[in-house]
Amino acid sequence: MTDKLYERDAYQQVFTATVLSCTATPQGYAVVLDRTAFFPEGGGQPYDTGRLGDARVLAVHTDGETITHTTDVPLLVGAAVEGRLDWSRRLDAMQQHTGEHILSGTLHRLYGAENVGFHIGDPYVRMDTSIPLTAQQLADAEAEANAAVRADTPVRCYIPDAATLAVTEYRSKKELEGPVRLVEAGGDRCACCGTHLARTGEVGLIKIVSFQHYKGGMRLLVACGQRAYRAVAEGWTDAEAAGRLLSAPVGSLTAAVTRLQSGEAQLKQRLAALQNALAAAYGAAATPGQPCTVWAEGADGDGLRRIAMAVAAQTGAPCCALAPGGQGLAYALAAAPDGDVRPACQALNGAFQGRGGGKPAFCQGSLADADEARVRAFLTEIL
Ligand SMILES: [Zn+2]
Repeated sequence: MTDKLYERDAYQQVFTATVLSCTATPQGYAVVLDRTAFFPEGGGQPYDTGRLGDARVLAVHTDGETITHTTDVPLLVGAAVEGRLDWSRRLDAMQQHTGEHILSGTLHRLYGAENVGFHIGDPYVRMDTSIPLTAQQLADAEAEANAAVRADTPVRCYIPDAATLAVTEYRSKKELEGPVRLVEAGGDRCACCGTHLARTGEVGLIKIVSFQHYKGGMRLLVACGQRAYRAVAEGWTDAEAAGRLLSAPVGSLTAAVTRLQSGEAQLKQRLAALQNALAAAYGAAATPGQPCTVWAEGADGDGLRRIAMAVAAQTGAPCCALAPGGQGLAYALAAAPDGDVRPACQALNGAFQGRGGGKPAFCQGSLADADEARVRAFLTEIL
């Protein structure tokens, strides 16, 4: 069994060990040492990377007893080797992991929520809860967890004897047998084999970045430590930029966007009314029995449709309404009663690099080759 140095001291970055075996594998070289500070992937925490002598450690895994390092070059069996962790990666993992303990413990204490899924991903930590929670409940738990961070109390990792364990309450994802390693952080006690910070204050900040309902509970994306700072700083920069566009300070963006949306809805209504009036005017001016093309600059797709259909209804003949739009020139083709404009639509698309189609009574699309005069001449020929 490999001696797991990280279980005794999560802050050990450098160590010496003896190479017990080194085997070529498709991924690199599988190296087993007598002892290691490299944490293997497990319990939602990613493996450490770093160096063993001149070799790069690409991955670390365990079968529970033996820890296997995957390196890029072979190591001499029997030799002593110096191991050195990529400390920024490990510290980040410990910030996320310890923060997760504090937040999970708070959710459990406040609402009885169990943590049923945990994964330190990039850029966020994923946490799944056993029960649904409201936005307010999550906000309250986040506030309480951050208070525990600011209290800066010691994080304790220990393996109690069986008698003590039997009378000790702790959270665990599964039933455990034999010795259990307990981790106490910010008022929570939980079984865990991972690496943790020494004090809650080192977590810095816990931020729930997003949440959604998932499998009867919630799926949270969470950032702790440096990641939380970055998420908040980037979010603030983005909010400030939006605020400048909206002439509103951060803190009143929602009200500003709501005003903008209601203004847009009013404009859409006015546009629809104007396009209806325009369609009626085109219809009134059209000559009965006469196929025609209408140039309706400024009309959108819906306006073109209304105009083409109003004119065709008035004349009893096909009508094509055109305006700049789409990939160049937007068109709407309305048929005479019982007519079929699909062949005309196909011919138009073919002649002017168009896209679009529809039903016999009505087709709509746009033309990349947007020469108005040639398109109108072509339509005069085919309608
Ligand atoms: Zn843990």
